[in-house]
Amino acid sequence: MRILILGGTREARELAGDATGEHGLEIVSSLAGRVRAPVLPSGEVRVGGFGGVAGLRNWLSDNGVEAVVDATHPFAATISAHAAEATAALGVPLLYLRRPGYAEQPGDRWIRVPDLAVAAETVATLGERVFLTIGRQGVAAFAHLAEQWFLIRAIDPPTGALPPQHEIMLARGPFDPDAERSLLAARRIDVVVTKDSGGADTSAKLDAARERGIPVLMIDRPPLPDGATVVPTVAAAMEWLRAQARSGTDRPSNVGNRSNHSSTARS
Ligand code: NAP
Repeated sequence: MRILILGGTREARELAGDATGEHGLEIVSSLAGRVRAPVLPSGEVRVGGFGGVAGLRNWLSDNGVEAVVDATHPFAATISAHAAEATAALGVPLLYLRRPGYAEQPGDRWIRVPDLAVAAETVATLGERVFLTIGRQGVAAFAHLAEQWFLIRAIDPPTGALPPQHEIMLARGPFDPDAERSLLAARRIDVVVTKDSGGADTSAKLDAARERGIPVLMIDRPPLPDGATVVPTVAAAMEWLRAQARSGTDRPSNVGNRSNHSSTARS
């Protein structure tokens, strides 16, 4: 059974690693190509957008994909919506692998906001020295805030307009608790803005904020498409894949033609 994993996360890489070589499963991972030096999953990898819903639907059909796991980042809402539409049109099973969000703890001072725009409105009332850790996309939502100073941390340089007072720090997790503590102290951070991405790699900043008693603006995840089947762990996604492989042997394949492999590469 040929499986497409929509990736760009640690969980997607782990799933590709676990599933590649599993009897009966043929895995191809897809990356958007946003990060300059991505950490590649093992096995077959393709890079770049598909060209919207129609492009994804054609790619699935041309490549004989029989099941899809969307293991993209919880904030990658567009590709997740496209996956729902394209697989529904073809009758291909789709699973979302989403790690749980961060868990609030006693002593936390979190303020949940629905999106970047509300985060930008709210941050102006909370502090003067902001740790902005929302990735490189979306920083422009804060560009009009001239009074605050921003420490902007991302893997690659942010795109679009930037707030006038800022420092850019390029770094990739996992982040160490001691280093996060020192960073917040050294930059005299008095408010943190982050997305509810979840995961241990990036949670140390929340521990450091709790210890310092400073507020965290937590941007909520966008909703998944209606009726989505979701699992929280790589192990559960593996179980789903195995179940698909078992039931797939009884199902007629939706394979179109599989000649269009020119855009794939082996890592
Ligand atoms: P997005 O807004 O949901 O997607 C925008 C477009 O990027 C999609 O329409 C699609 O282009 C393409 N795309 C996204 N993920 C893809 C994938 N895995 N394979 C092929 N094409 C993909 O996504 P995003 O927020 O820009 O994130 C891009 C990628 O970075 C995601 O795969 C995600 O897992 C990863 N990531 C995102 C964040 C975040 O905060 N958003 C953080 C860490 C990692 P077409 O319409 O042309 O197919």
